[in-house]
Amino acid sequence: MTRVFNFSAGPAALPESVLRTAAAEMLDWHGSGMSVMEMSHRGKEFIAIAAEAEALLRELLAVPANYKVLFMQGGAIGENAIVPMNLLRGHKSADYIDTGEWSRKSIKEAKKYGGVNVAASSADSGYTTIPPRATWKLDPEAAYVHICSNETIGGVEYAEPPDVGAVPLVADMSSSILSRPVDVAKYGALYGGAQKNIGPAGLTIVIVRDDLIGQALPITPSAFDYKTVADNESMYNTPPTYAIYIAGLVFHWIKERGGLAAMEAHNRKKAGLLYDYLDSTAFYRSPVARDCRSLMNVPFKLKDDALDAAFLKGAEARGMVQLKGHRSVGGMRASIYNAMPLEGVQALVAYMKEFEASHG
Ligand SMILES: *Cc1c(COP(=O)(O)O)cnc(C)c1O
Repeated sequence: MTRVFNFSAGPAALPESVLRTAAAEMLDWHGSGMSVMEMSHRGKEFIAIAAEAEALLRELLAVPANYKVLFMQGGAIGENAIVPMNLLRGHKSADYIDTGEWSRKSIKEAKKYGGVNVAASSADSGYTTIPPRATWKLDPEAAYVHICSNETIGGVEYAEPPDVGAVPLVADMSSSILSRPVDVAKYGALYGGAQKNIGPAGLTIVIVRDDLIGQALPITPSAFDYKTVADNESMYNTPPTYAIYIAGLVFHWIKERGGLAAMEAHNRKKAGLLYDYLDSTAFYRSPVARDCRSLMNVPFKLKDDALDAAFLKGAEARGMVQLKGHRSVGGMRASIYNAMPLEGVQALVAYMKEFEASHG
């Protein structure tokens, strides 16, 4: 068996030890005589699996007691609708910060349910920056302020959560959740699909302050009403059971490795290696402003895009896959989530040097 270094933006690489555990437990989970996939979500085995996953996630993120942790479905794109349906709470509009493709998708969807004030945008920079906080035109009456913590496509990430005063901050954290510690208390809600940094596609994580729930628009589907989901401990409808189980194994893996502070150190080391090299040569370049470069998704360009195909082919021959950049940005993108080992980034940088030497 040969495993590649998988730089996919999502669904993305999982820790090998997690996959091995899942394989070993596939036919018979802990003497139950069943696969987790075959369990009733209301049986004692699965209830224990889900409770442990939630407890571990709360521990890793130090989630305050007045926040609900919800295991939902529909992905972050689904949440783009579910958030305004639940969190407009009688307000006329919400503020959105436009930092790239994913914020634009959130904005487009929210407009179906209420007013949207785009309080700041970095479109003018080609989405290579985050608009300085001082330039944001926030509405003090807004229901919430929405940001995308890490733009998976553009590779732009907030270094710190912005201060938005008393209005709840809501973040799409799909591609940065669990990459470093987060002060959950600074947010009204945060959400993300699992398939970047947590586990299989199909599970959506939502963490929401409990005073914000219970005022969903009447049109909100019951399965997407945070209050209904919370009151039923994420089992109002059948949850994505196997994805929750794998997420629990990943939470364990993070905890064993020292938690989110250790993850951050590991991720900074990996990203630093790549950015330092990109900045040291004229053959490659990072399009993103230095102060908002993502720790998780690193887009980069070759000085001549006619070499892109040869670069990708050589990478694949060396066991490095999914490096092609998103079509809207072009060039390359290395997604280096928690499960990407340092060796993967070292191998990539070594190959980049080799390619530069032979094509520069
Ligand atoms: C991947 C991603 C999404 C889309 O998630 P789905 O699970 O496909 O709905 C949304 N936002 C961000 C920031 C992402 O990285």
